[in-house]
Amino acid sequence: MKQPIQLDGVEVANDIKRSLADDVKELKQKGIVPCLATILVGDDPSSATYVRMKGNACQKLGIESRKIELPEQTTTEELLLQINMLNNDEQVHGILLQHPVPSQIDERAAFDAIAIEKDVDGVTTLGFAQNAFGFAHYPSCTPAAIMAILDFYQIDIEGKHAVVVGRSPILGKPVSQMLLNKNATVTTCHSRTSDVSSHVQQADIVVAAVGKPEFIKGSWIKEGAVVLDAGYNKGNVGDCDYEGCAEKASAITPVPGGVGPVTIATLLKHTVESAKRNHLS
Ligand code: NAP
Repeated sequence: MKQPIQLDGVEVANDIKRSLADDVKELKQKGIVPCLATILVGDDPSSATYVRMKGNACQKLGIESRKIELPEQTTTEELLLQINMLNNDEQVHGILLQHPVPSQIDERAAFDAIAIEKDVDGVTTLGFAQNAFGFAHYPSCTPAAIMAILDFYQIDIEGKHAVVVGRSPILGKPVSQMLLNKNATVTTCHSRTSDVSSHVQQADIVVAAVGKPEFIKGSWIKEGAVVLDAGYNKGNVGDCDYEGCAEKASAITPVPGGVGPVTIATLLKHTVESAKRNHLS
């Protein structure tokens, strides 16, 4: 049986990080330390793990990470106040509000309070729109990571049929827009799509962004399709049935070690770019 190409996210992430090391050095020589502020509201253990992973990655590259931890019962007003303080802090170059926030918080208002110059995860309405037009400085990190993997492995996008399963504002929708901007023909599936499998069966490129373990089955995959699994579920399981999909795919991302590490590297890249844009331009 022919094995698919493993789209190795760790390799792509290392490539991104290598190219950032010089930028960080140059900034530090000018007395500037790139700084990412992460805001964690509440005590969801997975969110805490994600924030910790991002902080560790910053530290390894010499980027400062400032962790803001707010209690579960934080109000929208209290969160907006915190975001405004970070907006006004010249030493902070990127702000990441860890999603999801507790239900009493108006998440859209909180995301939109982030200054566009510091919106390194493309979560503001303006950042989202700029991405749709194709000129965002900082598209959402996971969609950008998926595009970076396709680019690194020189996978053709133009003219291909891409099927994205999921339409969240941080993942499914922006990656659909990015693929469209690269001249793919894009189908975006969601929870009301009837017969998702029939759409996936047509795809040259499949993006799984559904948040359900092993939702996409090998039998849905067209022979030779490229499969990018953004899913990250309990027990290190993706949104695709890896073994089944790998039997049909020409190339596939593993979970873990696929989209995840590239997402973090992209966040670092956007933070360093923001520091450069703020201080060197
Ligand atoms: P989300 O906000 O929960 O969105 C899930 C999407 O899947 C929604 O658009 C939903 O449709 C759709 N969906 C749900 N059930 C479906 C079904 N039966 N058929 C078709 N579509 C269905 O999740 P998310 O934040 O986009 O994350 C998606 C996955 O990516 C999760 O596994 C998450 O852990 C992972 N993730 C990974 C990274 C990374 O760095 N690797 C970053 C972010 C997220 P509706 O819109 O109709 O509800």
